Amino acid sequence: MGRLSFEAIQRLPKTDLHVHLDGSLRISTILDLARRDNVELPADDPEGLARAMHCGENTGSLVKYLEAFDITLKVLQTQDALYRAAYELAQDAAAENVRYMEVRYAPLLHTRKGLSHSRVVEAVLDGLRAAQIDHGITSNVIVCGIRNISPESSLEMAELAVAYKNRGVTGFDLAGAEYDHPAKKHKEAFALIRKNNINITIHAGEAYGPESIEQAIHVCGAHRIGHGVRLREDGDLLHYVNDHRIALECCPSSNVQTGAVKDLSTHPLKLYHDLGLRVTVNTDNRLITDTTVSKELWLAHTKMGLTLQDLKQIVLNGFKAAFLPYHERRGMLRAIAKELADFEHEDNKTSERPGPLDLSDSDNGADAQHDHGARGSIGAA
Ligand SMILES: [Zn+2]
Repeated sequence: MGRLSFEAIQRLPKTDLHVHLDGSLRISTILDLARRDNVELPADDPEGLARAMHCGENTGSLVKYLEAFDITLKVLQTQDALYRAAYELAQDAAAENVRYMEVRYAPLLHTRKGLSHSRVVEAVLDGLRAAQIDHGITSNVIVCGIRNISPESSLEMAELAVAYKNRGVTGFDLAGAEYDHPAKKHKEAFALIRKNNINITIHAGEAYGPESIEQAIHVCGAHRIGHGVRLREDGDLLHYVNDHRIALECCPSSNVQTGAVKDLSTHPLKLYHDLGLRVTVNTDNRLITDTTVSKELWLAHTKMGLTLQDLKQIVLNGFKAAFLPYHERRGMLRAIAKELADFEHEDNKTSERPGPLDLSDSDNGADAQHDHGARGSIGAA
């Protein structure tokens, strides 16, 4: 198999389903906002600030990795700052051909200067909508509760997600320190979310074992799992996740930096993909992890041995797993499948023989079979 160029990967249409607003600002924007709002930072130049936040470094633990957010959150306390962060994130994603993005954050962390939760949500939605008009990227928001704050605050975030359902908020998540903070403590929030038929994804199996994933699915009702690195430790649960097409939001570089895996060569992404799991590849935090979706796919290609065909399937999985209404998702999926079928990487050096992509969108995979033009093998004459 020839090696794909990075540029070819950038040209693939993509999703980013797991990206934190407060971990994905431009470093120049943090400095700019801090100057404007008189916020004190540990450094006043881009290099020094990146070092202070350990951007792109292995921190050894999730808790240590999360410390960088103490810095970014300082400048994300006004409507202007939230609008700008959201707009620029969508602009940066669009620049690498991300077509659909779900941005997550916890509004409760942005009220230090007196903003109401609804103002916090509106500012981000406005930024994303403006970026959609200017750059053509579709985005939605996932509201997060925080494991290590309190179940009461998670319930409050759940109420906020309910209030903004069908108005840009498309899901609910639980983020923060996983170890010692089980998801079941927040079950009241999830009960409200489920009662209102809202999508659920939960960070699980990153800093704790498969029990955490089991709890996310069976106690809290997760439709997708954030990371799921440690799912491989429980074969039975792994098959359940596979059988029910529960998508995994994999973020390989972030997993190395938090110590969830030792290095990229030991990341389970390829194992999961080979077993047929619905894996997606995401950034987690563009700034703090120092990455892009293209970079993560590039690493999957160069460090984990995933082929162009594998990457196309993973890209397609992202659209399948999107928290979008079924008909919208199906329309998007058809268009993307056609684009992928036409996709030829720039120098055509791969001799790999393309096989058919799995286009099924439902659990039993039957529906896409009826779709006009959504079948067929990729690149075949
Ligand atoms: Zn995350």
